[in-house]
Amino acid sequence: MPSYSTASAAAPQPTAHPIQHQERRNLEARSDTGLSLAAPPVVYHPLYSAPVLPPGHRFPMAVFGLIHSQLLSEGVVDPRQVHMPTALPSRDLLRLVHTDDFVDAFCGGRLDQQRVRRIGFGEVVHTQALIDRTLAEVAGTILTAELALEHGLACNAAGGTHHAFPDHGSGFCILNDLALTAQLLLHQGRVKRVLILDLDVHQGDGTAAVFRDQPEVFTLSVHAASNFPARKQASDLDIGLADGTADEEYLGVVAGALHQVLHSFAPDLVLYDAGVDTHLNDALGRLALTDAGLRRRELLVLDSCLGMGVPLAGYVGGGYDADLAVLARRHCWLHRAAGQLWKEHGL
Ligand SMILES: [Zn+2]
Repeated sequence: MPSYSTASAAAPQPTAHPIQHQERRNLEARSDTGLSLAAPPVVYHPLYSAPVLPPGHRFPMAVFGLIHSQLLSEGVVDPRQVHMPTALPSRDLLRLVHTDDFVDAFCGGRLDQQRVRRIGFGEVVHTQALIDRTLAEVAGTILTAELALEHGLACNAAGGTHHAFPDHGSGFCILNDLALTAQLLLHQGRVKRVLILDLDVHQGDGTAAVFRDQPEVFTLSVHAASNFPARKQASDLDIGLADGTADEEYLGVVAGALHQVLHSFAPDLVLYDAGVDTHLNDALGRLALTDAGLRRRELLVLDSCLGMGVPLAGYVGGGYDADLAVLARRHCWLHRAAGQLWKEHGL
């Protein structure tokens, strides 16, 4: 792991890049966030939906912009509490999780064909637009966790790239934003114990591999046992569910596991991957949650953590549907639950 001075560890190292010039308004908005807020902070950046993939690609790149616009149009989010990352993470920061070789090859647009294939974005992965989009998502995930530590609860409009390993990406994930965030905050001494709660329908294999031998991070994955990845990694706690598992059984399993880990591990922070590919109609999922089940899941997870005084940063994770408006609405259950519990917990 690279060494950081105390001063340089205070924040992600910015690189010279155009997005540094954007959104001074949001920097100012952050300066008064010590005050009580009317709604939970939400993190978003237009690069999340950078139009870089060919038409018809399975990864729903446009959905993140739709999540942002739905949240605003439905009044779920206070526009004054939408925060944007203002700098991209440095290569040194990426090396907290990823190998030098992978960081340099990806950021330099020189990934070899084997690693390009595993990511699943094709040759687009070499373009500056996709590189910037990937880095912006990491920056947003870090900012979300920082806001959660400050306010108790914050959600991103993207994030949850849990299939990324130290030396390669996989399954539409290139850099592991959750792992980078946990490592950075641990390195900075801002937290001592992080729970990464992964409820995406696919196992969080990259995250599990990163933290296999690191007791400060607990990885809990509840997923469809028969789904991707075929070769699972060992999380600290894995629960593989049978195809077709529906609301009642699913929610019982999640409630039991989360309760157990919150009490036994006592995290300072929860990073929650709220993938909605657990939905009955998801194109890649094999579980059977209804809209009501998703809503109950988000309320259950947030209420459990906030009820124990543990800050939570929420990330949208995976979700696949040809109808992106429908898909965005599924993802927004996370933010709706955050808005409701923000009030109920008096944050
Ligand atoms: Zn997934």
